[in-house]
Amino acid sequence: MESNTWIELSRSALRRNVRYLRGYLTPGACFTSVVKGRAYGHGIDAFVPLAEQCGVRSFAAFSAEEARQVLAARTRGSDVMVMGHMTADEVAWAVEHDVALWVFDLDRPRWALDAARRTGHRARLHLELETGLQRTGLEPPELAQIVELLLANPRELVPEGVCTHLAGAESTANYLRIRQQIDRFMDKCGRLAEQGVTPRHRHMACSAAALSYPETVLDLVRFGIAQYGFWPSPEARIHHLADQIEAGHGRPRDPLKRILTWKSRVMSTKRIRTGEYVGYGNTYLTTRPTRIAILPVGYAHGFSRSLSNVGRVLVRGRRAPVVGYVGMNMTAVDVTDCPGVAQGDEVVLIGKQGRHEISVSSFSELSQFLNYEMLARLPADIPRVVVR
Ligand SMILES: *Cc1c(COP(=O)(O)O)cnc(C)c1O
Repeated sequence: MESNTWIELSRSALRRNVRYLRGYLTPGACFTSVVKGRAYGHGIDAFVPLAEQCGVRSFAAFSAEEARQVLAARTRGSDVMVMGHMTADEVAWAVEHDVALWVFDLDRPRWALDAARRTGHRARLHLELETGLQRTGLEPPELAQIVELLLANPRELVPEGVCTHLAGAESTANYLRIRQQIDRFMDKCGRLAEQGVTPRHRHMACSAAALSYPETVLDLVRFGIAQYGFWPSPEARIHHLADQIEAGHGRPRDPLKRILTWKSRVMSTKRIRTGEYVGYGNTYLTTRPTRIAILPVGYAHGFSRSLSNVGRVLVRGRRAPVVGYVGMNMTAVDVTDCPGVAQGDEVVLIGKQGRHEISVSSFSELSQFLNYEMLARLPADIPRVVVR
């Protein structure tokens, strides 16, 4: 059975992004792919094997449930760490399945120690240090207790990483705060080393930090948004393009490629004379002889009702505006100026077709939504298809 609507993921685009971003790593540093939020809306099941084909062998999830999905989806034995929420049972599960976990309280290493003793597995821990984000990092008193626990149980507890998260490296407005976090982190890592805790992976960089603060690229980088082909902020993109111009590269090119395209097909077409309302209610009145195409997607598929009368799609290489209300399962678009549109034609809801592109941010009428948020809202239950 063919689906009404599907999301394509481009292997070649991901390969290019990974290759480009690897250029920011120091030799031997680990490329960790962040797949929280259902791999930023791309879907863990499809994205993880695809990333593995592009050479990625390390993933970071938010929850144990996401980590379980990564384990189920991986095909090359990749590694996974959980950065966020876990219950005691989930910590035990993680230890048993060789899943690494972030530690930001005293409970976790204790739960992990219990599980390690019970199962004979070693618990792989990443200590999250407080450096200024003020969300979950360890403060010195707790850290001291955890260090004691680590040193007392070297066979069960492996301090594999020490890490922190930055408070907005994508904006220069946060420059001083980020600089202070970097200094604090290096300082705290040094003190841990003096106490005999020398993890293999010190890590603090997300996409924006790796792109803008080379000193944050240590033993591992947690790449999220950029691997999917999006800049962490419009500012980060502009700065990058400006640097290229300054370096004399002539016309700057965006090195990041979107890997995602959301598509559907024309279900039917109809000619309507002047002076008719289209769809429910009376929000759209034809003011000329109009040809519309009906798409089998609506808000039930995540094509937001807020796109009524303002959204656009691409068909036959042209832009077609949404007319009338987006329905639960159907949307009408005006194809009067797109000659030849016929039933079965491919329609792009997000992505490129011909010379045009519907970007994720223009997809929303609320342009203050970050790319991050729009991606995370992409519907979970429509098929993902890997394309070349
Ligand atoms: C989301 C997240 C990242 C990745 O951030 P991007 O800006 O998408 O690269 C890295 N580290 C942590 C702790 C995160 O939560």
